[in-house]
Amino acid sequence: MFDFKKAASFLLAKGMQAALPFLSDHSPDTLIKFIDLLKNRGIERMKAYHKGTPAELARRVEAANAFFEMVKRNLPKYSKATQRNIAFNFYYNALTAGEDIRKAYFERHGEYPPFFLAISPSMACNLRCFGCYAWKYPKEKSLSKEKVSQIITEAKEKMGIYFVTITGGEPTFWPPLEELIREHHDVFFHIYTHGMNIDDATAKRWADYGNVHASISIEGNRELTDERRGKGAYDKITASMRRLRDAGCMFGFSITHTTKNHGVVCTGEYMDEMIANGCSYGWFFQYIPIGKEPDLSLCPTPQQRLERRDAVLKFRREKPILAYDFWNDGDSCEGCIAWGRKYVHITAQGLVEPCVFVHFATDSVHDKSLEECLNSPAFKDARRRQPFTTDLRTPCPQIDQCHHLKEIVEKFQMKPTHEGAERIVTDLYDQVEKMAKDYQAALPPDDGAIKTKMSSEDHKGGFSQEVSKEDLDKINDADAPLKAEILASK
Ligand code: SF4
Ligand code: SF4
Repeated sequence: MFDFKKAASFLLAKGMQAALPFLSDHSPDTLIKFIDLLKNRGIERMKAYHKGTPAELARRVEAANAFFEMVKRNLPKYSKATQRNIAFNFYYNALTAGEDIRKAYFERHGEYPPFFLAISPSMACNLRCFGCYAWKYPKEKSLSKEKVSQIITEAKEKMGIYFVTITGGEPTFWPPLEELIREHHDVFFHIYTHGMNIDDATAKRWADYGNVHASISIEGNRELTDERRGKGAYDKITASMRRLRDAGCMFGFSITHTTKNHGVVCTGEYMDEMIANGCSYGWFFQYIPIGKEPDLSLCPTPQQRLERRDAVLKFRREKPILAYDFWNDGDSCEGCIAWGRKYVHITAQGLVEPCVFVHFATDSVHDKSLEECLNSPAFKDARRRQPFTTDLRTPCPQIDQCHHLKEIVEKFQMKPTHEGAERIVTDLYDQVEKMAKDYQAALPPDDGAIKTKMSSEDHKGGFSQEVSKEDLDKINDADAPLKAEILASK
């Protein structure tokens, strides 16, 4: 049967694909109105289907609002190809076209598939950063372009996934990277990179592809970045940022909070420079004692983690840059997103890990389909436990609710994915758990609004929650005049 709703979405996305670059040049006001429409629609939908507490909803709405403000601020600065791909790959493919596929997956498994994949096709890297979380993976193994392509094809066709993160190692050392980006031109790629291999030609090609954006690692200021990444690193990285900015690429920075760079991370002295260099967003991570010579003295103290939570929230509210924290924003994204709830990580050996920071696996994409790996007994057990806590400010089964990871690893005999990965649940376990308890004690007292009401049943709704026909009609009626204006603008 002909699906009018899908056809209308497709036509709108096609129209947007053509209209967005035109609007950004000739009618910025209409462009802003259109992004506001998408924002309001997204936030209304979020409110209608939110299952947690009012405090969590407020955090989610604020985070979503910041995302759309980032798009409004930056879209006109991106290359035309990037504008088109944000419209089509992200808006249509990832959020709309995949809907039926995700529903079919739900029929098969009783829960929705993840929204994105993280793949590390190679662990090769020319740097030697202390505390590198990926350092201990075998370097000689890598995934072929054909294998990665096969995984992405399965993800699109069976799970409706059109958002893929490529990490490592240093992805720009994996030779087929750009061939993959060109081949899967309907996917929006996100690359984590040290940024030092991006010359003018690379920046131009990425701007021309339009379906790739990059997160570039820094440690804060020049001194700290050079200390961890080598002399001259900061200047090379910031020069790459300016090349990407001038070419019209979408990119941001990524920073790992340790005890060494705490003061700089939280004062945000570097933020204005990152904004001037063209960063649209900043991702905040924290040092986790895994990978290269786990060192507990690098873990931010509970007080420092708390200060980072406040600092990131302040940056998000006050700076023209989208700031997110991978741990402390647990209450903005309904808790842990790993174990296939929203994403998984595939290593260069083909092992399917719950998260880039959780280095255990039971299955490999060399032996099973991605769909089978996602539905392993260990992953299903973990998803039944999610959210791992009622306080989503402490979402992580590895560094907050540590007993969960230990229990799952032991129950399903999950194997460490590199030498020493097991230490987080063996000899380091007691200290990591003590830090977790100290952090929970340092958090402001629970005022009753923090405790989530979400259950694992609510999590099954995942990203793709049903909108009733009535609500959809209301939304479409309200949007109709502006849609017509946009389609007519070209
Ligand atoms: S942290 Fe990143 S850039 Fe540094 S050694 Fe590890 S993979 Fe390479
Ligand atoms: S396992 Fe921990 S680090 Fe990974 S997504 Fe979940 S909360 Fe975040």
